[in-house]
Amino acid sequence: MEIKNEFYCRDCGHTIETEHAEHECPRCGSHDVFNCRFIKCSCGGRVYLAHNTNFCPECEKMYNMFGQELAPVDEWDPEDAYACFGPQNAYEY
Ligand SMILES: [Zn+2]
Ligand SMILES: [Zn+2]
Repeated sequence: MEIKNEFYCRDCGHTIETEHAEHECPRCGSHDVFNCRFIKCSCGGRVYLAHNTNFCPECEKMYNMFGQELAPVDEWDPEDAYACFGPQNAYEY
């Protein structure tokens, strides 16, 4: 699961998706900005990773703060399990 970052500028309201947290608004140069990590749920919903457990607003799947789905592994098919636990780079902020 690829973790993305949502950047929001409190001054001009500029909102973009970025790979990592940004500390300066590319539009107005303000430093009064807000970053929130999120993942795209398999249903297409956007799940913000602000807590230890986070729910998809669309399908109510549960994810941990690393974007890993918190469902009983027994219920997954092998491909889904690989997608969540397969090799991936540690997230560097
Ligand atoms: Zn701005
Ligand atoms: Zn979902």
